[in-house]
Amino acid sequence: MKPAPFEYRAPGTVAEVVELLHEQGDSAKILAGGQSLVPMLNMRLARPDMIVDISHVPQLRDVQITADGCRYGAAVVHSAIEDQRVPDLTRGLLPAAAAGIGYRAIRNRGTIGGSLSHAASSAEWPIVMAALDATIICQSIRGSRNVPAREFVLGFLTNALEDDELVTEVDVPALASGVSWGLHKTARKPGEFADSFAVTLVEETEGVVTNVVAWLGAASDVPLNVDTLDGLLRSRPLQEARKSEVLAAVAASLPEPHTKDEEYRTHLHGVTMWRALHVGEAT
Ligand code: FAD
Repeated sequence: MKPAPFEYRAPGTVAEVVELLHEQGDSAKILAGGQSLVPMLNMRLARPDMIVDISHVPQLRDVQITADGCRYGAAVVHSAIEDQRVPDLTRGLLPAAAAGIGYRAIRNRGTIGGSLSHAASSAEWPIVMAALDATIICQSIRGSRNVPAREFVLGFLTNALEDDELVTEVDVPALASGVSWGLHKTARKPGEFADSFAVTLVEETEGVVTNVVAWLGAASDVPLNVDTLDGLLRSRPLQEARKSEVLAAVAASLPEPHTKDEEYRTHLHGVTMWRALHVGEAT
């Protein structure tokens, strides 16, 4: 199919983008990499009157080191992060996550801001940014506001943006020393969205776990914080964790399964989390 007719605008500054969004309200759609929006336009699941293409706004591709991390412009593409053409202060977590997104052609066009705004809980960035406690900076003609990544995805393909707001940047805190990251994506084949996706940050002092952050994707409409793993794994060496107890903690964070398919998915999320914890295959 082909999209319904729309007016196309390609402004060169953030000020012009937010002015257009203000004038148009919910009848305008931002176009970033187009990797999610264009299929929706073609299937006529989205029928905006106006497309505002943000790929001509240089400011949205800026990357700056800040006092406590790195600020990525919303239009930074996944492959720039994968290839480390932009700074990474997470000791490889961001490049590893980027490398798992779709295919290379998608990573060359798709943007960090577009992925977050699309708000799919099976996508990499919403989960990674929630785990890292990143901040999403949103701009409108009223000014800018900061939204914690953990509060940005509100439901199925639903984000916390007002109709006239643009994501301009994402502030990603540097990963503290003593914290190690783990990530595991379970998908039927490379290039697919995740059937399950887990990111863990484990802090250890003298061989003993002192803090665990664990987030799960594709398990519900929003990124899922499996906070019970912190209590479970704290105060002992990570190697002492048992697969069965990690699977049980993940299962307790999910709705009770009633069908074989739901049982399988619960198990899949548990195994994905176990693998993200990098504790090997001991039982
Ligand atoms: P667009 O498609 O241009 O926009 C997406 C939505 O966000 C639109 O509603 C748009 O209006 C809005 N938007 C875009 N930028 C902004 C902004 N700055 N502020 C406010 N709103 C904005 N993703 C994964 O995470 N993992 C995968 O494994 C994966 N596999 C894929 C496989 C295929 C075959 C395809 C086609 C896509 C896949 N994707 C995957 C999605 C891909 O990562 C997209 O790049 C991403 O979801 C959207 O980014 P985009 O820049 O292309 O945004």
